[in-house]
Amino acid sequence: MSIKYIFITGGVVSSLGKGLTTAAIGNLLEARGLNIAILKLDPYLNVDPGTMNPFQHGEVYVTDDGSETDLDLGHYYRFTKSPLSKVSNATSGQIYETVIKKERKGEYLGKTVQVIPHITDEIKNRITAVAKQSQKIDVVLIEIGGTVGDIECLPFLEAIRQFRYEHHDDCVNIHLTYVPYLKAAGEVKTKPSQHSAMILREIGIIPDMILCRCEQALSDEIKEKISLFCNVLKQDVFDEKDVDSTIYEVPLELHKQGLDERILTLLSLPAKQADLSAWKEMVAIAIKPKQKLKIGVVGKYVDLNDAYKSIYEALYHASIAAHVDLDICKIESDKVDHESQLEKCDGYLVPGGFGQRGWLGKIFTAKYCRENNIPFFGVCLGMQIMIVEFARNVLGKGTAHSVEVDPHTEFPVISLMEEQKKIEKLGATMRLGSYPCLLKPESKAYLAYGKKVVQERHRHRYEFNNEFKEEFEKHGMVFAGTLNEGSLCEIAEISHHPWMVGVQFHPEFKSKPLEPHPLFTSFINAAKEAKWGKS
Ligand code: GLN
Repeated sequence: MSIKYIFITGGVVSSLGKGLTTAAIGNLLEARGLNIAILKLDPYLNVDPGTMNPFQHGEVYVTDDGSETDLDLGHYYRFTKSPLSKVSNATSGQIYETVIKKERKGEYLGKTVQVIPHITDEIKNRITAVAKQSQKIDVVLIEIGGTVGDIECLPFLEAIRQFRYEHHDDCVNIHLTYVPYLKAAGEVKTKPSQHSAMILREIGIIPDMILCRCEQALSDEIKEKISLFCNVLKQDVFDEKDVDSTIYEVPLELHKQGLDERILTLLSLPAKQADLSAWKEMVAIAIKPKQKLKIGVVGKYVDLNDAYKSIYEALYHASIAAHVDLDICKIESDKVDHESQLEKCDGYLVPGGFGQRGWLGKIFTAKYCRENNIPFFGVCLGMQIMIVEFARNVLGKGTAHSVEVDPHTEFPVISLMEEQKKIEKLGATMRLGSYPCLLKPESKAYLAYGKKVVQERHRHRYEFNNEFKEEFEKHGMVFAGTLNEGSLCEIAEISHHPWMVGVQFHPEFKSKPLEPHPLFTSFINAAKEAKWGKS
């Protein structure tokens, strides 16, 4: 059987949830027994999002091989088993870089190098590379970032037009649009979707399916209108209405309308019954009313939901497993200097971050949790904060700091590794990707994971400075996880505290709704216990 390709484009407005929709379609195809792989194509010129401010781009998702990628790959990870690596995300910047490097090497043999065919060929190479990741892949889903009509999307659209031309019966084009409800007119409007489909037709792409993002399910009449004017069969017009309960309901909603069935028919794929039983069970628990557990996330980018996307999702997965209703209290670290600003949560998490802003509020949070036996989870920068707070307030080294913020500190408890000192470039130069971590028996981390060696993903430049190790240990800090016996500190815990754990890696990238991350589950259980006692 030939490999099948599904292209997902977006129209009308950005932020339609194309990543989520792509992931949900992947989820349904897997439930049908197919092996899928997903590619995100991003139209911006940055080579990767690694150097972008989270306010611009949201979280940077890191894969096992150390690629810094778009946050949609996090959705793919949480909804599917798609392999994820450097081939799973390509930006215009990367594609141009490849073509220009080839040109400099003389590989185009004197030809004029142009967007068409050289850039579009490179885009097509990226699509094929995803299909070749493993022998087993049946379907590749390609999500095109940006909105149809944007100038920068054009090379991608031209490339997928050609791809369809070359693999005609093996492709499906799905167009995700927005169907707004106009309150003043009391009507939903299909015109933006019609125009968006028209722009695609001008480029030579005829969508096979239209997926309409909307507030309420669409009537038959509206679907008929969209079908006629977008030139798509009525049975191929679907609505994807806002879900207020849980995003994990999206695949189930699409399945109810028969979306996966139609994709299989259009691609002539043998149809097995969808097995969604485990997913349905998880959603049923997620939406069942439960007692509230309030977790404070103290960070710099709390105004933007996407900046800590995987952290929020990992907390949510753990709370589903623990049968509690998660109430995340987003606390701006800049503003914290008194416990009243910490809003009496049952546990606190300090996520990753860079630079000086917000440090004091985070240190304050760690001190407050340590002194009051409140569960605390420090992730990456959060662990470094926990170390600095301990050095200052337990070891009496009042000026202790991370050299990231104070390069000349007398007590550099967080410092730079030798190999990092020589690096001048910013892009892709941190300690990135998956490394093993050896756990200390009896530690909280070991009890959570239930095994001796784990693999976790990293994205940081600074490390705990082992020169101070003994002194920390003497005062009750346990180095519960290290890269090798006695080397880089990966996990720090405070022994005489119910649950104060810091990790140098990013466990949130490896949490799924059906496989919540053990450390997040252990943290949520500790917060539960702090609130209601041992169950
Ligand atoms: N800024 C810190 C470092 O580079 C922490 C990074 C992070 O939290 N991802 O080490």
